[in-house]
Amino acid sequence: MAIEKNYGNPQLEEKLRDRYFYTDDSNPEFLANVEKIGRTIAHMCFQCGTCTGSCPSAPRSSYRIRLFVRRAVLGLEDEALTDPDLWLCTTCYSCTDRCPRDIAPTDIIMAMRNLAFKRDIVPRNFLKTAQLIYTTGHGVPNNDVNRAAREKLGLTRDPPTTHGYPEFIPGIQKILDYYKLKENADRILAEEGQ
Ligand code: SF4
Ligand code: SF4
Repeated sequence: MAIEKNYGNPQLEEKLRDRYFYTDDSNPEFLANVEKIGRTIAHMCFQCGTCTGSCPSAPRSSYRIRLFVRRAVLGLEDEALTDPDLWLCTTCYSCTDRCPRDIAPTDIIMAMRNLAFKRDIVPRNFLKTAQLIYTTGHGVPNNDVNRAAREKLGLTRDPPTTHGYPEFIPGIQKILDYYKLKENADRILAEEGQ
């Protein structure tokens, strides 16, 4: 809800009415939750933009890590967790290496993803990737095109991963079962008829 105040200044009142976010949009616990899960100090951000300037995803998308850090500070939970850009971070940690305030923006994103998952807000391709990791040990399993290319390069048809050692797949499944990742991925996709 907008803050309506009479300042006796029509221009200022108009500006305030045009604000995109309002105090009611803010969850004061959001910053504390993000900092606790991410074990970082988002509130120290002074919006210098070094993180966005270091981010390989930024030039190719509308994703701006600095915006997400700001959302954390302002408690804008819904805006952050429902924005599909949340899932465009590659977790390369360039921003974390370069932040002059020693904040870990990457871990802010990871914390927000955790909070989003708790509310079942996860892109479907991520859920399908979780299913593939559970069954094959790979987010992108090998295929015949890759096998032929590997053979041409003098490599084994399958890499020395769970493709070559499927006996390790149950270990991966045990980890994912502990966090109920596959179970929740199956449930969310089933609820959506996918
Ligand atoms: S680099 Fe650090 S201080 Fe600068 S905007 Fe990003 S998170 Fe904030
Ligand atoms: S960790 Fe994520 S947000 Fe940070 S620079 Fe890499 S892709 Fe961008």
